[in-house]
Amino acid sequence: MNERTTAFLRQAYKEYYFKGSGSVALPDDIESREFGYIPFGGGMIRHLSFRTKGEALAEIIKQSPSSVYCSNARYEFPTRPIDEKGWLGAELIFDIDATDIPTGCKKGHDLWYCEKCHASGKLPRPAKCTKCGGSAVEFHGTCEECLDAAKDHARRVIGFLAEDFGVAADAVRTYFSGNRGYHLHVFDGRFDRLDQQARAEITGYVRGSGLPPPQTMAATLRRRMPGSAQGVGWTRRVTGYVAKNSGEYAGTLQRLVSDAITGNRALVDASVTTDIHRVFRLAGSLHGDTGMSKLQVESLGRFDPQVAPVVLGSKPVKVDVSFFPRFRLKHEDFGPYKSESVELPTFAAVSILTRGLGEVA
Ligand SMILES: [Zn+2]
Ligand SMILES: [Zn+2]
Repeated sequence: MNERTTAFLRQAYKEYYFKGSGSVALPDDIESREFGYIPFGGGMIRHLSFRTKGEALAEIIKQSPSSVYCSNARYEFPTRPIDEKGWLGAELIFDIDATDIPTGCKKGHDLWYCEKCHASGKLPRPAKCTKCGGSAVEFHGTCEECLDAAKDHARRVIGFLAEDFGVAADAVRTYFSGNRGYHLHVFDGRFDRLDQQARAEITGYVRGSGLPPPQTMAATLRRRMPGSAQGVGWTRRVTGYVAKNSGEYAGTLQRLVSDAITGNRALVDASVTTDIHRVFRLAGSLHGDTGMSKLQVESLGRFDPQVAPVVLGSKPVKVDVSFFPRFRLKHEDFGPYKSESVELPTFAAVSILTRGLGEVA
């Protein structure tokens, strides 16, 4: 990324934070949170703390960083090294990323490309560019299909929380991550003191990873086929699915049980939920790879992740794009681009520039 591009991005982010600082959501107990940020062209700076929301906002506007984060944990001493912080508890958080959910669309927008000659091809990525021997890197895009799948898995987590953990609907806040997925923040004090092990058990449960093998479950069902959903938790999900779908189903019962699990499990990122010292992108802040906002979602059904989080302006900017697959933002299709100069609205240009796949012309 050259200096002109860095300056352009910093300016675009600064304008957003200057005008839109009211959208940045800071926690009420701000003094006990750890903050961090990544400046454009720099590395992560952590272990910061602020006494007031005004102080935090002033720093965010001043720095206009590529990404800004806040801990879900509360600490006695948020600026000290992790072992000395005095951990007081942390909200339970789930991360759902379209990249982790198997969908057929990936072959269309997940590619490798050559940093040297801009050649590209299907994954898996070759060790070296097949054309020039340069270094090949992976690119993960998104489309309606995988973003919908991520939304579906977010709904599943919300279902598990409500039905199996007794979490009140208004205790779960849903956010679009600003890139490829959703974050669910659970504001329910029962979870706050849970350690990594307990959080790992919860993620395992929603991912359906500790269940008996499908053939064992099928054997139990064969003895007494359910006419409707029975029991609680996963039993209710599997029996409900089997009762609903066994009529016209041609495959084996074992296969049907497998489908019931696949159709109900939520592929959350286990490493995110179990890390109790993590810092998370601040709601209302801009994602460093897209320029889109991490946005609170009121209704998943009505939320359009290719429109609502696009908060940067439309002022045209000329960009020399080295490589970028087709993408869609604000009802408009862009690309694919390869070694060409294009004029783009700022919100589209930023998603190319932030990933180092183009420079401001
Ligand atoms: Zn090459
Ligand atoms: Zn897709």
